[in-house]
Amino acid sequence: MIDVDEAHRVLFSHVKPLDSVCLPLYEAGLRTLAAPIVCDLDYPPFDRSVMDGYAVRSSDVVDVPARLRVVGQIAAGRTSGRAVGAGEAMQINTGAPIPPGADAVVRVERTESSESSDEVLVHEAVSSGSFITRRAAYVSKGDVVLVAGTRLTSLAIGAVAAAGAASVETYRCPNVAVLATGDELVEVGEKPTGAQIRNSNSYLLMSLIRSAQAVPIVLGPASDDRGVLRERIMEGLDADVLCITGGVSMGAFDFVPEVLEECGVTFHIRKMAIKPGRPTIFGTTRDGTLVFALPGNPASALIGFELLVRPALAALEGRSGVVPDLLGATLSGTLGSTGDRRTYVPASARVCGDGGWSVEPLSWQGSGDSFGMASAGALIVRPPNAESVGAGERVSIMMLERH
Ligand code: AMP
Ligand code: MG
Repeated sequence: MIDVDEAHRVLFSHVKPLDSVCLPLYEAGLRTLAAPIVCDLDYPPFDRSVMDGYAVRSSDVVDVPARLRVVGQIAAGRTSGRAVGAGEAMQINTGAPIPPGADAVVRVERTESSESSDEVLVHEAVSSGSFITRRAAYVSKGDVVLVAGTRLTSLAIGAVAAAGAASVETYRCPNVAVLATGDELVEVGEKPTGAQIRNSNSYLLMSLIRSAQAVPIVLGPASDDRGVLRERIMEGLDADVLCITGGVSMGAFDFVPEVLEECGVTFHIRKMAIKPGRPTIFGTTRDGTLVFALPGNPASALIGFELLVRPALAALEGRSGVVPDLLGATLSGTLGSTGDRRTYVPASARVCGDGGWSVEPLSWQGSGDSFGMASAGALIVRPPNAESVGAGERVSIMMLERH
């Protein structure tokens, strides 16, 4: 049994980024850069006005009010045909280039002008450089603006666009085969009879995989039969990642580990010191497919996904070492003592009055209960061998992505 930190070390030592693909920028949202973005020009490309107002010579507005002659107007996107001389001002808009001669901008709210006169009265003294953004104030031509490994959030996309990259080199997004196993499973549209239950894990995993911007490939569920399992597993090994649920425990029909080994999978993790989810398997094939075999209970599948599969998907996309953060929170309610494993409890978390997190365990009947954890926004993470805790005590939580 290995703990979560050790499991992450093992995981990241076996996951290398996939190859890269060039995408048009408008399709690159939330992908990860495989190459740095270099700005192709100084930014801003010229000295420009921060405000609507008047471009002036600061030496003309030392004593205010100062009366200046308005000699022109510069809109954004235009350049001035003439310079600003002594005693002169030029009307200027936000984003327009500063005309030669001027070295400051006076905001329009600090001036007075009238339609009938070509003069402006300036009420505010400004120093040289006021309300001007200098050329290259943000970045210079040739600067790296985003490094490889950056995830292209909306804000990053905006920066890439400003840097002039209409297409970007990104890591290919992983595809993930999903295989549910168990003789008891029937499909969602069917009514279970006798000892059957619905296959909810395929849907849970498909949705989790999509939330990680990877591509799920859902295989038909496999019965607890070595031959059927072998066939499905071989099919799943064509993907970048194979994610199996069920059949990994100590039961008489839990054939997944032995069939995986027959199919050429080498195990790096066999058991984790977590509850639920102890019999969680991570392995690889010779040609680099990652294989995760998670226990069949929905909570175990969720926790195995969040602790191992989601970080692995990020690492395949060039973001290695991204693991769930543990935050501090104040408990509402009570929790019993824990056994020899790190223990996870579905919970709702909210920001309380002092700005910290407050967390409350959900009414949940255990790891088979999909319904009790359906609204969880976080998992309470309890250390092994911990005493029971009560209201007002501090606990650790791990936020769940809610897509
Ligand atoms: P197993 O890991 O195969 O021992 O299964 C553990 C528990 O999870 C059993 O109660 C199974 O019926 C249940 N289970 C297994 N696979 C699924 C699935 N795909 N969807 C929902 N529950 C499942
Ligand atoms: Mg089973």
